[in-house]
Amino acid sequence: VKRATSLGEIAAKGLCAGCGLCVGMAPPGSVTLEMSAAGFQRPRVAQALPAALEDKLVALCPGNQLSAPPGDAPHHDPIWGPYYRPMKGHATDAEIRFKASSGGVISAIATYLLASKAVEAIVHVGMDSAAPLQSRLLVSRDRAGVLAGASARYGPAAPLENINDILAAGEPFAFIGKPCDVAGLRNLAKVDPRVDRLMRYALAFFCAGVSSLRISESIVGKYGLTPNDVQLMRYRGHGCPGPTHIEAKDGRVFEQSYDETWSEELNQEIQFRCKICPDGIGEQADIACGDAWVGDSGYAHAEHEGWNALLARTKRGAELLTQMQAAGALYLEPIALADLNAMQPHQVERKQAVLARLAGMAIAGAMLPRYEGQNLLRAAWQGRKRFLGNLLGTRRRIKAGAHREGPVATTE
Ligand SMILES: Cc1cc2nc3c(=O)[nH]c(=O)nc-3n(C[C@H](O)[C@H](O)[C@H](O)COP(=O)(O)OP(=O)(O)OC[C@H]3O[C@@H](n4cnc5c(N)ncnc54)[C@H](O)[C@@H]3O)c2cc1C
Repeated sequence: VKRATSLGEIAAKGLCAGCGLCVGMAPPGSVTLEMSAAGFQRPRVAQALPAALEDKLVALCPGNQLSAPPGDAPHHDPIWGPYYRPMKGHATDAEIRFKASSGGVISAIATYLLASKAVEAIVHVGMDSAAPLQSRLLVSRDRAGVLAGASARYGPAAPLENINDILAAGEPFAFIGKPCDVAGLRNLAKVDPRVDRLMRYALAFFCAGVSSLRISESIVGKYGLTPNDVQLMRYRGHGCPGPTHIEAKDGRVFEQSYDETWSEELNQEIQFRCKICPDGIGEQADIACGDAWVGDSGYAHAEHEGWNALLARTKRGAELLTQMQAAGALYLEPIALADLNAMQPHQVERKQAVLARLAGMAIAGAMLPRYEGQNLLRAAWQGRKRFLGNLLGTRRRIKAGAHREGPVATTE
């Protein structure tokens, strides 16, 4: 089995998730994050790195290496990973619930942690006002900051690009990110004790994958706008799922539905690494939140009041949810894993498919990431009817070069 030995290989062979951890942990300026021609954020190595440093960064990379989830949960499911209790719920604060992506549980937790002084800062992302289709790192210290970053930012976002500075500041914080962002921090925790000392909570959302910036550009392009014409782009939120909302600098406003944005557009250009992701559900987080997509007729994206499906994955996470429920900051009710399957069918399908896809990659001679403790064999058994189809399909796509990425675009 071939494994990546450099950051360049990780990016070129379709294994980079774009979290920014390598940039954040390399000496300033030696690795930078740049937008690739395909519309994803990728590391560019400015000067040859010492071998020991490059080895370290390659081992930290969550695209290349996923560690086993934390071990203190009482239950474990081959699809859903470790868990305390599956629930659905929402923020009781109406403004948070409205502005957030789903039910606002993540932003409610962030606000509660700041107000109770459990942490000094929330590390997350929000719109980049200099480039509103894109996202940038936010370090929020109050409710207004949390709300400014509420809701999902589709497309590239790299919340770890400054992580060394955040750890160096020495303040306790909570981290919000995609499952791979959290996985990167767990990799880092193995070699950097500051992570476990300072990161009091890791919160992840369920993630179907990172879409290309080119798709965001084509969405605004439909309305005759270039990225430069846009002053605000919200992918969802302000309702659930909430419209994609675009404000042009000349005052015009355009909106389109979630289904138009996600199902028809963004989904077309998901980076390769996300298609072989065994953890779209935040297995390494303390708490993982997703959408509770169920209508009367089952899985549905119609506009509704915001709800989250959520899982506490560690004792720390479970205790926080109990505390917040008692304080009236969250409304929560129990659900069964079968409900989660109905709310998140694509997560179930992908987890069942990952082993077959890795096998297809191996047969086609592609470089493989290392995945530990993800229960892929048991998940694949559940999806065995589609095993061969997934394997052959991936082998064909790899042979056609679907995982390959060109060099990052020059910024000169
Ligand atoms: C790329 C992407 C794919 C997703 N795929 C799924 C899916 O398959 N199934 C599903 O149920 N839900 C998915 N979601 C998550 C969903 O939109 C909600 O974020 C989740 O349900 C939590 O809702 P909330 O109301 O509690 O979050 P909120 O209270 O709105 O908080 C969301 C937090 O996430 C942070 N954030 C937003 N975008 C990013 C980003 N790109 N990278 C890092 N941090 C970010 C924000 O800063 C904010 O703090 C996805 C989100 C993204 C960004």
